[in-house]
Amino acid sequence: MSVLVTGGAGYIGSHMVWRLLDAGEKVVVIDRLSTGFDWAVPSEANLVVGDIGDPDTVGAVLREHAVQSVFHFAGSIVVPESVTDPLGYYLNNTVKSRALIEACVDAGVPHFIFSSTAAVYGTPETAETVSEDAALHPESPYGTSKLMTETMLRDAASAHPLTYACLRYFNVAGADPAGRTGQSTRDATHLIKVATQAALSKRPFMQVFGADYPTPDGTCIRDYIHVTDLVEAHYLALQHLRSGGDNLVANCGYGHGHSVLEVVDVVKRVSGSDFEVRMADRRAGDAVTIVANADRIRESLAWTPRYDDLEKIVTHALKWEEALSRRNT
Ligand code: UDP
Repeated sequence: MSVLVTGGAGYIGSHMVWRLLDAGEKVVVIDRLSTGFDWAVPSEANLVVGDIGDPDTVGAVLREHAVQSVFHFAGSIVVPESVTDPLGYYLNNTVKSRALIEACVDAGVPHFIFSSTAAVYGTPETAETVSEDAALHPESPYGTSKLMTETMLRDAASAHPLTYACLRYFNVAGADPAGRTGQSTRDATHLIKVATQAALSKRPFMQVFGADYPTPDGTCIRDYIHVTDLVEAHYLALQHLRSGGDNLVANCGYGHGHSVLEVVDVVKRVSGSDFEVRMADRRAGDAVTIVANADRIRESLAWTPRYDDLEKIVTHALKWEEALSRRNT
């Protein structure tokens, strides 16, 4: 019996593959390598280069590998891109997820764990933390495309023998502490990735998008979660479903945030590089503060994060960025 990881050649998926292998699970990956890399998939896992929207490919993998659980990471993740290419996002994230879920139902796969996002909430109504019961008002096709998949899973699970978890990620960062994988995506736009690239002179400067927000230092606040803690939450969710636990929709964050300037300071301190930081205009669509209420995941899965420390997140991200330079990617 195997576990299927879609998008296993990507950032979070490749960490999941390592976590499963570390636990002695058999793993098969489906990834079309549009943004991921075949070298990111450990050789102990089976890599099938293919599309999750293709029922023949997925059906064959589910049968041949006797898949009992699916982690679904494959998808498009750039919010501004989803605004200019909404139909592309609904195809990749919604239509293809529907095909994948149907293939799983047809094959009788019992457990499905889905990579969702805090973008399903849109701008939080208060500056407090966001709980799972908050209103769902996605403000981009990206957020909507993910929410639609959550809805399909909910309805499919009430009609068929399928249990599921939807994990809503806040700002995922960092890399495998053992240095086996990390964020390798080309042209990444995320803050910690960009700042570590500036620290290593891979870009001449970085920009801070808006310093006039109503926060203590004027910059936006986010809840940065280490990818290893995130992946651990997925593994716990799998164990929960395997032992007969109920369907679960849960936030993945630490419950406290850091401003953009705090992140920049930590990257400068950890790297020892005083790279140039330019103040720039606000970026369209940025909410002021997005911080998780993480009570549910802590309570329902006994999740105890090990890397709730911005210095550790940055240290691991920086180490991976250095390793990528040697790889010439
Ligand atoms: N940000 C920034 N400069 C960058 C990238 C991001 O100032 O080069 C800010 C961005 O405006 C937001 C925060 O950092 O306030 C986190 O952005 P990111 O793109 O990492 O994640 P998001 O919260 O948008 O998913």
